[in-house]
Amino acid sequence: MTASSHHSVPAARLTVLAGPTAVGKGTVSADIRARYPDVWLSVSATTRSPRPGEIDGVHYHFVGPDGFAQMVEDGELLEWAVVHGRNSYGTPRTPVEERLAAGVPALLEIDLQGARQVRGTMPDARFVFLAPPSWEELERRLVGRGTEGPEERERRLATAKVELAAESEFDHVIVNDDVRRATDELITVMGLQPHVTHA
Ligand code: 5GP
Repeated sequence: MTASSHHSVPAARLTVLAGPTAVGKGTVSADIRARYPDVWLSVSATTRSPRPGEIDGVHYHFVGPDGFAQMVEDGELLEWAVVHGRNSYGTPRTPVEERLAAGVPALLEIDLQGARQVRGTMPDARFVFLAPPSWEELERRLVGRGTEGPEERERRLATAKVELAAESEFDHVIVNDDVRRATDELITVMGLQPHVTHA
């Protein structure tokens, strides 16, 4: 391997993927990661407790309220927000800056409030909104995944109404009618080099 070059690598562009609860942001970003392992997906910090199967440092940094407050105080978060009126979520700044400086395409999967903050601080990022085919389909997906009780579902649907109304703030709107197709569209939007995948 060569030592680090004298020429700096051109910085990569940040992509922000937002969209309402249960629209499939997690599924689409997992699909893009599976097909383009070079894409780096930011791991958020959160005050929320892990769900069964979630791993600290992989799905989230489960830092708890005190740890989160400390990160905010120390200016470690690129953006952060209280989501669904309940838990705080935020993007650690340094890993994002390091990846972009190294030319690695970075993806943030965050809520609307966070996307607006990133627009303020990193206006060169691309802002992508993942939309459901319909409101009924969004409700169906939220109930179908079964990770929230009725009260939390109502809370999330209320947030979703607000988020859907903000669709026009985004540079690109991708309708998640089919994961594979939606990911293809995101790949195009991110300007990733197409490559052949074998079935
Ligand atoms: P969940 O609790 O279902 O994992 O995530 C709830 C919501 O939090 C998701 O809609 C997701 O977009 C949002 N979220 C996750 N990480 C971040 C983050 O780092 N910043 C912001 N602003 N929102 C986040």
